[in-house]
Amino acid sequence: MLFAEFSALCARLEALSGRLEMIALVQEHLPGLSEAELPVFVRFLMGKIFPDWSPDKVGVGPSLLYEGVAYVAGVKKDAVVEAINREGDVGRAVEQILARKEQTAFFSAELELEEVYRDFGYIAGVGGSRSQREKLKVIRRLFANAQPLEGRYLARLLLGELRIGMGEGNVREAVVRAFDVPADLVEHAHQACNDLGEVALLARKGAQALSDVRISVFRPVKMMLAQQGSITAMLADHGSVAAEIKYDGSRFQFHKKDGACRIYSRKLEDVTHALPDVVQILDAATSHDVILDGEVIAMKDGEPLPFQFVLRRFRRKHDLAAHIEEIELVPRVFDLLYVDGESLIDTPFSDRRARLEAVLSGCIAEQIVSADADDLESFYQQALQKGHEGIMIKAPHSTYTPGVRGKLWVKIKPAVDTIDLAVIGAEWGEGRRARLFGSFLLACRKNGNLVPLSKVATGFSDEMLALVYDLLKDTVLTASGKEVRFEPALVFEVGYAEIQMSPNYEGGFALRFPRFVRIRDDKSIEDIEDIEQIRDRYERQFTPA
Ligand code: AMP
Repeated sequence: MLFAEFSALCARLEALSGRLEMIALVQEHLPGLSEAELPVFVRFLMGKIFPDWSPDKVGVGPSLLYEGVAYVAGVKKDAVVEAINREGDVGRAVEQILARKEQTAFFSAELELEEVYRDFGYIAGVGGSRSQREKLKVIRRLFANAQPLEGRYLARLLLGELRIGMGEGNVREAVVRAFDVPADLVEHAHQACNDLGEVALLARKGAQALSDVRISVFRPVKMMLAQQGSITAMLADHGSVAAEIKYDGSRFQFHKKDGACRIYSRKLEDVTHALPDVVQILDAATSHDVILDGEVIAMKDGEPLPFQFVLRRFRRKHDLAAHIEEIELVPRVFDLLYVDGESLIDTPFSDRRARLEAVLSGCIAEQIVSADADDLESFYQQALQKGHEGIMIKAPHSTYTPGVRGKLWVKIKPAVDTIDLAVIGAEWGEGRRARLFGSFLLACRKNGNLVPLSKVATGFSDEMLALVYDLLKDTVLTASGKEVRFEPALVFEVGYAEIQMSPNYEGGFALRFPRFVRIRDDKSIEDIEDIEQIRDRYERQFTPA
């Protein structure tokens, strides 16, 4: 497939708003693709380059991309930045710039979809001191061969913001229809192998190939997630439940095979290098091949520290040894997904827990099993008294469903309404905060795009504003006057008093009295709420509990 054909398809999808029409259009294209093209096509449509389990990243920031485009178009980098400011979208800006170039240059080669993927793979692989220059060379070649429309999607793919509205659900549905396979098998295979590209190849082979997929070591799967819930509702639904401390730390997934260990963050990044002490503890705690799920917490002198301390360690690349001494990180393991060649994701939780206790010594999350509301309530109160965030209640028969925020795991926390939103912009602060960002523009998802929902300017300590500045300063996409826009990557948890209807924001809703609670370093942009969930929250305000 030519990349030009892929780009034309993206443009058609971008113009459609009906979910079914979009699915039908993608479905038409799937059967004709080659073995090599199919997985790439499927991932590209979702704005992804590599499988979700893969730690590979192209690692091209806006600045490098602008430089490459400027070179090819024979303009200054500032002109690229200006065009982006004007258009408010990097893809359309690049398209316009390349269209102007088109009159003077001729294209030397047509880009193939596979070739673009190979080039992205090469860019992801280059390291060392010459890596920026080497990446730039490939970027220039790609854009030199790109027609304007291809430029639009190349730029967006490289920056991880394709925004054509094709989420995982739609692509999965197109795979189901194109290859006439059961939807539940596709979903299960996707959960186990964590790459919809590979699932499409298996779906083409048929149902048997899909049901043969197993979770495997060193291919992290998405984490199972929890909804908010109540003790009484869980007891009513399940009779007896397991209750665990909800630890305030960072989620991890630990993989061990033949003595080799890797540890992954909630975003499935390989963070083995940042957590050597945690890896050592877990390695020593089991002699089996395993995949473990848990939370890593920070401790000092035997007392748990707030989550921000864990975050610092996850991000620290230099001076690790000094930091390890200062802050002790310890794992609390609450699930076992795989042991010695056997996948346990379809095994009930109570059996997984028993197996976990048999293969791991120490570091297991505290748990009680009870059918009594008073027992559970007092476990909850004790957890709060000890300074924990709350508790988790889990249905004993529940299987492990990667990536699913179902009703079988619920979290019980004191009632403060908070919401996780993407940070998409900011305004410079004033007075002593003039060199930092002072107020932030937050967005939720809507049809695969991000739409603003609120600004937040309160709840930050000076130290937190400095940390936030550090995290955001290299992701600035555009700047005009006091305002800047970011490449969406960071997630904030914010508290609010109420959700209101609002004509001021494109999504139609706004937060009343938003207040910063914390950075959600463990969440990616795909994890934030979409406009339908906001509407639900809005409507729930009028329904008595
Ligand atoms: P939330 O991030 O508020 O949706 O709550 C779910 C998160 O709580 C999980 O993703 C874990 O990182 C964390 N967590 C802490 N303790 C547990 C536990 N015992 N079981 C499951 N998740 C836990």
